[in-house]
Amino acid sequence: MKKQKHPFLFIPGPVNVRPDVLEAQAEAMIGHRSADFESLFAACENKLKKLFFTGQRVYISASSGSGLQEAAIRNGVHKRVVNFVAGAFADRWYQVSMGCGKEAIKVDVEWGRAVKPETVDQALQQYDDVEAITIVHNETSTGVASPLGEIAALMREKYPDILIFVDAVSSFSGLKLPFDEWGLDLMLTSSQKALSIPPGLSFAAVSDRVLEKAKTVEGRGWYFDFLVMEKYLQRSTTAATPAISLMRALNLELDYILAEGLDARFARHQALAGRTRDWAAKRGFAMFSEEGYHSPTVSCVANTLKIDVGGLNQFLRERGMVISNGYGNLKGQTFRIAHMGIVTMEDMDRLLGAIDEYLEQTQ
Ligand SMILES: *Cc1c(COP(=O)(O)O)cnc(C)c1O
Repeated sequence: MKKQKHPFLFIPGPVNVRPDVLEAQAEAMIGHRSADFESLFAACENKLKKLFFTGQRVYISASSGSGLQEAAIRNGVHKRVVNFVAGAFADRWYQVSMGCGKEAIKVDVEWGRAVKPETVDQALQQYDDVEAITIVHNETSTGVASPLGEIAALMREKYPDILIFVDAVSSFSGLKLPFDEWGLDLMLTSSQKALSIPPGLSFAAVSDRVLEKAKTVEGRGWYFDFLVMEKYLQRSTTAATPAISLMRALNLELDYILAEGLDARFARHQALAGRTRDWAAKRGFAMFSEEGYHSPTVSCVANTLKIDVGGLNQFLRERGMVISNGYGNLKGQTFRIAHMGIVTMEDMDRLLGAIDEYLEQTQ
């Protein structure tokens, strides 16, 4: 790789953005109450619906994904929500639920393990009057993707009245998550993960059921009030001033995504993840993530060889690349290689080749 000023990012967000997508942000401003903006909005909305596999709606928010975690709780829960927590980002949703003054019930799952339908079933048998559950599909701190389709099937079968809220921030667009088919109620994501747009936008598919519920929930606030968002969505615009520059980047990147083809895109992510796991196994590393539930977008490798992760990253930086250390307490015990968005197999080979070089020098 050519030595460049900014390293190529193998971190789980922000990720690399194509130069022309970056440049799309530099176009002159337009008023947001203009036909030009409405057509930009409508173009983004229609493409996003394809990615979410929904015919319902996708809200575009000028906030990061955490804002929509809050929106889900404020709009969809009067009182009681169950938060399944198998990592740092799920814990954030629990904190958000408490911060919104809800009766949040935290169900802990060991870090590195998936949230399984059995776990969900057990918890819901135990608690009455649960209005919604929150699940992080792809726990970025542990590299685990939970079996969302199975959980959704259980919910629709056994707990049809409980809303399903999903954080797919770090997996969205890296694999198929069919929102309508699975009967999900809310699924949110951020711009700076697999979508490969700069940070500052987030998106949520929201079901008709959630909108109906929101009409009865007090204290929805205003900025994240789905009823306000819906009113403006109907006119292909937003209530507050939108992040116009970011939406131009979004619109262009969505064209790239749809041009690659969704199936090809999903297969590429599986291949990149598979390549990373094969490399780890060959080198004698174990995976931190539970077998059978490895993430397609971020691999969390257990540092079983006790390498100096900081030293490795220094070595990589000198070669124009960077990976992530373990999250929080997992620092040094794990390291994370993100392979989401515009990463190609050649990029992956270059990274893993450089790590091999480092291991040969230091082991
Ligand atoms: C990055 C991340 C978040 C936080 O998203 P922001 O856009 O930084 O608010 C939430 N959940 C998961 C799984 C993430 O990876």
